[in-house]
Amino acid sequence: MLIAGNWKMNTDVGSAIELAREIAGDIGSPAPVKVAVCPPTVNVSEVARTVNETALLVGAQNMFYEESGAFTGETSPAMLSAVGCHYVILGHSERRQYFGETDDTVNRKVRKAVEHGLVPILCVGEHLAEREAGQEEDVVSRQVRKGLSGVLIGRPGDLVIAYEPVWAIGTGRTATPAQAQEMHSYIRGLLRDQFGEAAADAIEILYGGSMNPGNADELLSQKDVDGGLIGGASLNADSFVSIVESAKRLA
Ligand code: PEP
Repeated sequence: MLIAGNWKMNTDVGSAIELAREIAGDIGSPAPVKVAVCPPTVNVSEVARTVNETALLVGAQNMFYEESGAFTGETSPAMLSAVGCHYVILGHSERRQYFGETDDTVNRKVRKAVEHGLVPILCVGEHLAEREAGQEEDVVSRQVRKGLSGVLIGRPGDLVIAYEPVWAIGTGRTATPAQAQEMHSYIRGLLRDQFGEAAADAIEILYGGSMNPGNADELLSQKDVDGGLIGGASLNADSFVSIVESAKRLA
């Protein structure tokens, strides 16, 4: 199980360090659950330094697919690795929606991340209109297949998928446990086609979308839900750690 916090464009360096320190202290040794926080890029380095000696892992929220060069404003995978970054969220719906990311750019990023030993958390998920039109599996299938095209992994732990129905992100409207399980099982099938049964069974598929301490138990207890990608509730140490506690009970 993996519980990862996506802090989005929140926290400054001081509050990021404080929040990371509090979470790291509260989770102690969470094994077998892995716990990560993904601060804004500018704070990744300081947060990674702060939690260096703890079980808390650090991720970034985005990266570019080139090694270096004239790409103003971008961050390379090597830059992230060098500051102690372990995960990188890629293809988040907010990046697809506001920053024009496509399945192709997401795919290039996923391949580059894996090449550099960063673990991509590839986000997929349908919009409300797509679900209402019964197209959710088509959308997710396209995002998974294209996002993972040409991706080679050495171990199942080299890749994480996050199913995040867009209509559930930041809305307080969560997918039902049954809806989450149904889509996670569908994604597992897609992973089986590409990586084979054993690897697909071991790749972690996270649920994201208004997960909180009140609904974490029922979502995390679904067979194919291997953790959570948490937005709003990860900005408060108590609520985030409470979700980690749920994962520990259920792992
Ligand atoms: C997210 O943005 O990845 C997310 C899951 O947000 P929230 O938990 O706030 O819905």
